[in-house]
Amino acid sequence: MCGIIGYSGNLEAEQVLISGLEQLEYRGYDSAGIARMTRDAVEITKTTGNVSALKRKLEEKATLTSHCGIGHTRWATHGGVTEENAHPHRFGKITLIHNGIIENYKKIREDYGKGTRFCSQTDTEIAAMLMDTFYDGNPEEAIWKTTAKLEGSYAFCVLFEDIPNVVYCIRKVSPLVAAYAKEGAFVASDVTALIAYTQDYFVVPEDTILVLTDEKAELHNQKGNVVKPEMLHVKWDFASAQKNGYPHYMLKEIYEQPEALQRTIAPRMKENIPDFEDDQIPDSIFESIQQVKIVACGTAMHAGLIGKVLIEKRVRIPVGVEIASEFRYADPIIDQKTLVIVISQSGETIDTLASLRLAKELGAVTIGIVNVKGSTIARESDYVFYTHAGPEIAVASTKAYTVQIAALCLLTMRLALIKKTLGRGEITRDFALLKESIECVKHALLLEPEIQKMTACLTEASDLFFIGRGIDYALSCEGSIKLKEISYIHSEAYAAGELKHGTISLITEGVPVIAIATQESVFSKMVSNIREVKARGAKVILITKESMQVEESIFDYHFTIPEIADDYTPIPAAVILQLIAYHTSVRRGLNVDQPRNLAKSVTVE
Ligand code: GLU
Repeated sequence: MCGIIGYSGNLEAEQVLISGLEQLEYRGYDSAGIARMTRDAVEITKTTGNVSALKRKLEEKATLTSHCGIGHTRWATHGGVTEENAHPHRFGKITLIHNGIIENYKKIREDYGKGTRFCSQTDTEIAAMLMDTFYDGNPEEAIWKTTAKLEGSYAFCVLFEDIPNVVYCIRKVSPLVAAYAKEGAFVASDVTALIAYTQDYFVVPEDTILVLTDEKAELHNQKGNVVKPEMLHVKWDFASAQKNGYPHYMLKEIYEQPEALQRTIAPRMKENIPDFEDDQIPDSIFESIQQVKIVACGTAMHAGLIGKVLIEKRVRIPVGVEIASEFRYADPIIDQKTLVIVISQSGETIDTLASLRLAKELGAVTIGIVNVKGSTIARESDYVFYTHAGPEIAVASTKAYTVQIAALCLLTMRLALIKKTLGRGEITRDFALLKESIECVKHALLLEPEIQKMTACLTEASDLFFIGRGIDYALSCEGSIKLKEISYIHSEAYAAGELKHGTISLITEGVPVIAIATQESVFSKMVSNIREVKARGAKVILITKESMQVEESIFDYHFTIPEIADDYTPIPAAVILQLIAYHTSVRRGLNVDQPRNLAKSVTVE
């Protein structure tokens, strides 16, 4: 991830670029830089650190009047965090910024850059070199020739030294939006950086060059014709842009789940069967697998618990779910016939990374389920399955969790197909159910007002229990950690049948118990367990499927998810648990997005 901004207009470029980068800083934060254009030069200022560090560096420089420029916050993928690797990169007449990864940069360096001394270790500088090679006075031709050679993802903003006050942009996969307002023409990674100037903008289409001048933001196709943009309008204003109008990132991210799931599932669908050709995960790796280990930390590990149930049921091979910080020191029993799936939203979780390295050393086949492109785990896993949840900013993970479950569902189906434990017809049905879960998530989101009301009964609790059986127990673990993380109420997740082996002694009058009972096969057993806690005075918050008949005497509050096959209930039911945690935290007046002592990505042991 990184943040990009480009501008040409009547304002002071420095001011526009810096405030844009401040809006985009959440997207990348290891280095920052800007390039400002004047009649006869392009001036670059860049540094490691955040936008404040860049501001300090600019203060030390002589004032420069410029009305056109580009700015970048970097989230390194190729090359360390150094000033040389920070963007913008200059090569010959070209100065550019880049979001994404040029996968074939080594080949391009060999083909076009032999003997050239590069200033950085980035893939980006190679692209700048290539564009300079192709540039002979026609900027758009140079861009087309360059992108024809590139593999990977990119959003580029380019300044050509001899074309004053014009920014050229092109993108593939990585996002770019643009706008024209009375202050000039703007481009950015997302609309939060433009909202201070206008609420009307457009998404830059792929295979189209965007040209920014002080008079317009214009799209050109490869034939040189002007393409009319499809204008979009945002309803929210600058003040609400930070969280797209939501009071907290966490709530925004909870609501983003239907799209995040769609983005993770849809591209993998070929003839209604999950297919990983585009992910470059070959079927051959599944053939000889005799056991699976899922290794992760925290919420990602809880997604793994669900994966275990799914894989064992459908593929009939043993699955172990391991806490990464334990696994790495545990002398695990794995070999070439073991598939090790590591899961990490950030792709940087240090214990998970160490476990991945250990698994590789021991000869296992490794797949990383990762949200952040180009992260260390993504780079080091033999194969990577990207979840496309988009940036997750709140420390308490929500949408990353449900897309991790979806990823595990898809992997299970492919594994079952290759192992022939399920037929194509069964897998097609499974796939349809997974897609249905997205609709169920939308339904669960509608419960928010009721959930919000209910949480009044939780705010004073000092202890709380989550109970469930089977896959509902796996989900209980996630419900419990979510609540603990942000509400600071002590809570525990218990396999419902296990309660009477000790924990039930803690159930006294008024203790809240969140009972998840969505599994038909163990429903009557769950009802008995709920009766047991109710008989001891527990306040029961019950979650079931709509069709399940429950007597009113066993619950105080009842939330339902729509009808869906048992194995897919955790996706919508998770939303209810997330909303419970969220509203409890809000009611307690806590810092929802940045809970005490916790960090988003745990990169230390
Ligand atoms: N691949 C480029 C780099 O490592 C761009 C990374 C980004 O998107 O921030 O510098």
